[in-house]
Amino acid sequence: MQLTKNFSVQELLPPDVYAARGDASAQLIDIRIVNVAQWLRDNLGKAITINNWNSGGQYKESGLRNFETSTGAKWSQHKYGRALDLKVNGMDSEAVRQYIRTNWATLKNIGLTCIEKDTPSWVHIDCRYTGLDYLLEVPYK
Ligand SMILES: [Zn+2]
Repeated sequence: MQLTKNFSVQELLPPDVYAARGDASAQLIDIRIVNVAQWLRDNLGKAITINNWNSGGQYKESGLRNFETSTGAKWSQHKYGRALDLKVNGMDSEAVRQYIRTNWATLKNIGLTCIEKDTPSWVHIDCRYTGLDYLLEVPYK
């Protein structure tokens, strides 16, 4: 099932969650962060990979994560369906972060509140509550 023009529900979940809940898994994802990813897809004009297990790829924990996973932080925003790790085709992760900083006035209205600094080959975005009037940038790991 497509959630937005370019992103399906399968791209936002690990395979076991999709196997258990099917398209109802969409209820576990905060649509704001998917809309942020779609805005980046539209405005960068570049393909973005989140999970790709459904097409035989290696990524399965770049969206929602199980609470039992050993990947990432114990209270990661990924476990609440509020975070995505984006791989933007043909674009360096720092260049994507800079684009996000430059466009945060628009992105905050879609729901983006936080990114991780210095992630080498992906861009972490999330829509956690911060109460801040600036983009929160947290260290990764
Ligand atoms: Zn992440």
